[in-house]
Amino acid sequence: MLLNAINPTPLAMQLKIVKGMRDLYGEEVRVFSYLEEKAREIFSLYGFSEIRTPLLEHTELFAKGVGEETDIVGKEMYLLEDRNGKSLALRPEGTASVVRGLVTNNLLKQSRQLRFFYFGPMFRYERPQKGRYRQFYQIGVECFGVEGPEADLEMFLMLRQYFAAIQLQGVAFQINSIGCQEAACRPAFKTKLIHFLEQQKEELCADCQRRLSNNPLRVLDCKQPGCIALTAQAPQSHQHLCGRCKDHFATLQNLLDQEGVQYELNPKLVRGLDYYSKTVFEVYSANLGAQSAAGGGGRFDGLLELYGSAAAPAVGFALGLDRLALLSEPLAPVNGGAFVIGFESQAVVSLVAKVRQAGILCEYDPFFSSMKSQFKQAGKSGARWALVLGEEEIQTGQVALKDLDQGTQTSVTPEIALEKLQEN
Ligand SMILES: [Zn+2]
Ligand SMILES: [Zn+2]
Repeated sequence: MLLNAINPTPLAMQLKIVKGMRDLYGEEVRVFSYLEEKAREIFSLYGFSEIRTPLLEHTELFAKGVGEETDIVGKEMYLLEDRNGKSLALRPEGTASVVRGLVTNNLLKQSRQLRFFYFGPMFRYERPQKGRYRQFYQIGVECFGVEGPEADLEMFLMLRQYFAAIQLQGVAFQINSIGCQEAACRPAFKTKLIHFLEQQKEELCADCQRRLSNNPLRVLDCKQPGCIALTAQAPQSHQHLCGRCKDHFATLQNLLDQEGVQYELNPKLVRGLDYYSKTVFEVYSANLGAQSAAGGGGRFDGLLELYGSAAAPAVGFALGLDRLALLSEPLAPVNGGAFVIGFESQAVVSLVAKVRQAGILCEYDPFFSSMKSQFKQAGKSGARWALVLGEEEIQTGQVALKDLDQGTQTSVTPEIALEKLQEN
């Protein structure tokens, strides 16, 4: 009894769901699938194709790429040891895995630019809250190889089109540039920022005092009112860019204006992760309110190099599917197919099989309840047609075809009934 040896807890305990996790079923799964389908449809128009990476990666992948000082890596990763004592992590985000995928499969050698999207669960050991789960779902997009701001622009256009497709209104963006690794760019800005923050160190919140030494940019997006007030006068990264980053950001803004994209410059937007460079952005929808972003992204031109791979410019974004699912309009009920009503199991099963073979959604009552009950079920199922196999129909080899929308009924052969269903 291996199970007992490993886990001697009572059965009831074993049947409890892990904290912060949830099961998805019914309407929610329909909405998730719908959001993924629409993403697939829209992102394909922009030349993106799907990549599926493993949920498990070596812990170093995230430690190095996302940054050991971030909460995601420092506190929130699900870690486990394999049987050889190797440290593995359930992926807390998608980008590092996609980058690893390019390197593992040598994809950058085969193509000048690469465009991928992904769907799937991510794992973070955060405090569970309403709408926030430890296994949560993301839709992400990554474009590799294009250095120019045209690639950044495509992210905005793609998001705008996607939000329109899933009927999220009033899409708007916040943007900023946090510069590059050139000494005169982000490092110089960081020095100025640290200098500014150190003068008021005592008034910063405890988290920010810690961030000051290991991730000073994050102080800018602290949500504590005290810190917000203190950083109002802080130096702004977009005003301390090197020539190239400055041109990149200016051109991007021109392109956004040209394409009528609604955006706002937010000098405090830094995004949490170490690997971002130049453009960072967040996307909002009027349905979501101004408080919280539906997702965000930015450039990460330095990430491949950080892994010791040949450098390649890159830009991408990720959206939280759990949040989007909460906001989407309820979907139109499915079905519109058929419901077979009858009492003779063989005849019913055979007709159901024929209808399904013809590619039409078909249900029946496997308990063969009363006629009244079966009609009720047919109505509830949303079926357009009821196919009734009463005693008379069985004897004459006919089927009563009832249009549940119109209330009309005709007696026809099963073949004609099928033709009728296929017409509609
Ligand atoms: Zn720069
Ligand atoms: Zn703070």
